[in-house]
Amino acid sequence: MSSNENAVTRLDLRSRLLVSTAGELRRRVDEARIRPGAVIGLVPTMGFFHEGHLSLMRAARAECSYVIVSAFVNPIQFGATEDFNTYPRDLDRDLAVAAGEGVDLMFAPPEHEVYQPGFDTMVVPGKISEGLCGASRPGHFRGVATIVAKLFNIVKPDTAYFGQKDAQQVAVIRRMATDLNFDVAIRVCPTVREPGGLAMSSRNTYLSDEEREQAAVLFRALSAAKEAAASGETSVSRIRRKMKKMIGGEYLVDLEYVKIVNPVDLEPVEEVATEALVAVAARVGRTRLIDNMMLTPGGPDAADA
Ligand code: AMP
Repeated sequence: MSSNENAVTRLDLRSRLLVSTAGELRRRVDEARIRPGAVIGLVPTMGFFHEGHLSLMRAARAECSYVIVSAFVNPIQFGATEDFNTYPRDLDRDLAVAAGEGVDLMFAPPEHEVYQPGFDTMVVPGKISEGLCGASRPGHFRGVATIVAKLFNIVKPDTAYFGQKDAQQVAVIRRMATDLNFDVAIRVCPTVREPGGLAMSSRNTYLSDEEREQAAVLFRALSAAKEAAASGETSVSRIRRKMKKMIGGEYLVDLEYVKIVNPVDLEPVEEVATEALVAVAARVGRTRLIDNMMLTPGGPDAADA
């Protein structure tokens, strides 16, 4: 394609798919909502799409008559020393990808549209936001809950789609939707991974080849935990010790935490007696990565439990 044709395609996509104000978004969704059999799906993201995002769009496309994807790098969920300024962004590429997935509308507002002068109200999740990533990212989940609540209020989706990759985010949003009576179904899609097992993330673009290779140890350690639990290991301390040892073997991976918790309220568990969530966070070079898996107890006694 010539650069002229490229520019025309870009403009066409922008005019068909892109909405940048809350008012226009509300108007377009309200129009779609009154069509017979309308089911409105929302996929909240920070853009720079990868296969993980696409899996959410595909799930939404399969279940909804009208699919909205938001792409907004939300400043209030980043700490002062975090990567808000360098977070990868590519609106035109995202629009083309979303169009390819049959998305009906992409909401990519400027910051001043979302946080208008005088903005002074936050949604503050409680205890569920304090452990795991909340411990090292104070204010992060308040920022997440606030932007998601705003999106829910503007779009009023029937179903909203989130990735299991961000397990604490899922737990926080579920809690918020229940506590604040949002009339929305929360659908959680499985984590999409690179061939070596590394969970896909927009932040993976920060990794060097060597960092990327070593980062796959997080997947291997989670898989080892899953296997151990499935073959009857119930001791959280033994599973964590094994994982820490594996992760410690990669010199570029600096473990922040490995925790085994109840998947709903995220409270730590001492034994893997029922389904549990094992979650890790680590720094690999300047990149902070998170990942998790569900542990299902197995072994000789599991069938009687
Ligand atoms: P983000 O743009 O990173 O804020 O992610 C937007 C949504 O995509 C969130 O619900 C994430 O949990 C989800 N997501 C991100 N990475 C993945 C992945 N590798 N697999 C599945 N979902 C993902």
